Amino acid sequence: MSGDNGKIADATRVVSAGRRKEWTGGVVNAPVWRASTILYDDVAHLREYARTDTHHRLFYGRRGTPTQWSFADALTELEPGAEATFLYPSGVAAIAAALLSVLSPGDELLMPDSAYDPTRSLANGLLRRMGIATRFYDPLIGAGIADLIGERTRAIFMESPGSLTFEVQDVPAIVAAARARGIVTLLDNTWATPLNFRAIERGVDYSILACTKYVVGHSDVMLGSVTAAKGRFARLRDTSFQLGQVASPDDSWLGSRGLRTMHLRLERHHHSALAIARWLETRPEVARVLHPALPSCPGHALFARDFSGASGLFSFALDGGGERERAALIDGLDHFGIGYSWGGFESLALPVDPEKYRSVTTPDFGGPLVRLQIGLEDADDLIADLERGLDRFRAALG
Ligand SMILES: *Cc1c(COP(=O)(O)O)cnc(C)c1O
Repeated sequence: MSGDNGKIADATRVVSAGRRKEWTGGVVNAPVWRASTILYDDVAHLREYARTDTHHRLFYGRRGTPTQWSFADALTELEPGAEATFLYPSGVAAIAAALLSVLSPGDELLMPDSAYDPTRSLANGLLRRMGIATRFYDPLIGAGIADLIGERTRAIFMESPGSLTFEVQDVPAIVAAARARGIVTLLDNTWATPLNFRAIERGVDYSILACTKYVVGHSDVMLGSVTAAKGRFARLRDTSFQLGQVASPDDSWLGSRGLRTMHLRLERHHHSALAIARWLETRPEVARVLHPALPSCPGHALFARDFSGASGLFSFALDGGGERERAALIDGLDHFGIGYSWGGFESLALPVDPEKYRSVTTPDFGGPLVRLQIGLEDADDLIADLERGLDRFRAALG
């Protein structure tokens, strides 16, 4: 389980990561250790623990048990060069804790206009109330970010590809501009996961995951994580302790369990989603497909340069029509649920309207957008289902 983890393949890493014998007790995956109170041998023992660093030592339930440590450590191992990982009860909680750990009143934050809507809400709500200003930027800005960095800029947030519209960012160029000015970088890496984009190796300071999505993989648990680069963990941990953040042992155990098959699931998501995206490109009812692995997606060249694979989430624009015609497509689908979130084993279809969540860019892809989460079903079944959906769309257009 230890050794030179920089040299083993990802498929091997997701299987072995975090499985220390002292945490698993000899079974394969670390079991569920539920706890609030931890009992000490005597007063001297209690005093000693109060004085020393309790990282990976039982202290009080809020500081975790071997179940959480094993899962957090596994996520750290997936990001070569990382120091450690803190777990959260949701992806949004992870984003909030990471930003609060690096920002103070008077600071300015740069955030891509394609950021996940709740991340925008955090910036425009709590952060603004605390006196932290956010400047939104074009996700395709690349090295041009340097021109936006001002005296008060303290952190640059990234999300690549962006939510709903999948613009791929030039993370290395933005990291280089940030480093030149001593500015902290954070990346929402939920879409790619560390298996398809190693954020810490590329110089990002905080790599954030909504584990709710691909890590858990079964649409039944909310979880988040922040993996910190070397030297960046203490501040994140202190802030998260002060905020009282703790991911439950049961949820962390399910996160660990999901992780063991993530490599395999992502491969299937990648192949099925790409096949479906390519098929959609051939259809006359489709104006544009926004899938990072296709040249029609903004930032595709960066995807080809930086990512080792795609996942199963992308959007496409219908050629004309509006809410009613789009609903005609989505409502009758047999194999796609209608619902938020993604990353589970089952397919989902969602009407999305990115223009509602933009302030400095105006996405217009020719018609209303549908976002698809391609699950683990047979791709041909999904294509046949979508073909019937496009027939309904055409009929509704009249
Ligand atoms: C879902 C999502 C989140 C938030 O995760 P939750 O666990 O639902 O809070 C963050 N970022 C992105 C890109 C997401 O899609």
